[in-house]
Amino acid sequence: MTSSGQLNRHIVVRFAPSPNGLLHLGHAYAAMVAHDFARKRAGRFLLRIEDIDSGRSRSEFVEAIENDLRWLGLDWDGDVIFQSERLASYAAAADRLKAMGLLYPCFCTRSDMRQLWEQGGRPEGPDGPVYAGTCRHLDPQVASKRAAQEPHSWRLDVAKAAAITGPLRWIDERQGERLTQPERLGDVILLPKDMPVAYHLAVTLDDARDGISHVVRGEDLFAATDIHRLLQALLALPTPIYFHHRLLLDDKGEKLSKSRGSASLSVLRAAGEDGYRLVQNLRAGIFPVGISLSQA
Ligand code: GLU
Repeated sequence: MTSSGQLNRHIVVRFAPSPNGLLHLGHAYAAMVAHDFARKRAGRFLLRIEDIDSGRSRSEFVEAIENDLRWLGLDWDGDVIFQSERLASYAAAADRLKAMGLLYPCFCTRSDMRQLWEQGGRPEGPDGPVYAGTCRHLDPQVASKRAAQEPHSWRLDVAKAAAITGPLRWIDERQGERLTQPERLGDVILLPKDMPVAYHLAVTLDDARDGISHVVRGEDLFAATDIHRLLQALLALPTPIYFHHRLLLDDKGEKLSKSRGSASLSVLRAAGEDGYRLVQNLRAGIFPVGISLSQA
């Protein structure tokens, strides 16, 4: 609340977990930072479940996310939002980008890509190896004939898109103004072969649709924001302010993750730990043994 006790309707922040596993301490930290960011500015804090990957998303994980957040004392406003209920809006935006000639079908399989990387080197982007652009050069008629018969994804022609928008900027509250370099990520997939939409497109559309004023999320998504900014410009969406927070790291300096066996919040909760105190400790910078905050 503001000093006059009013909600500031202009500040809207979200926590947007994917329900493909149990939340761990890194998520608790991310949720706390986003929640506190909203509350300190008397803003709204939304919970958006990013369940576009129907193969990996499970309802029991959604339930666990809600229970974990309640246990941590991180309350959200309004109804929980589900991306799986918004598939038509993603398809419509993808159609617009196709009509602008900015998406092309890609038939490359993982093994094609591996082979290409072996032959021609592996151009590393900030988020891993960058796509070589093989299918960008296909004859459009050949490509559309193949698209009618073969499984394919749709990629954004980033150079073409950036040529339309010209230079773009966005603001990170921690790191200042950024001039985008979306080509560093290569031609990202917006419509995967096996999913209705990719993260980059869904998140950009939803941050606009949900009226998010400040995107508060981990710094591992810093580079991806250049793609989101590009999509905002192409689709005439507003640009929020960003705040990419530091990440919790394990004793090897690696980001916490399910695959690295980081303890889930549900396990701590079931063991009778006090979630509220856990969050108080995270706020105070007191972390369990072996856990630290990234330095960037
Ligand atoms: N669903 C994404 C994740 O869990 C959200 C990322 C974001 O906050 O933009 O990583």
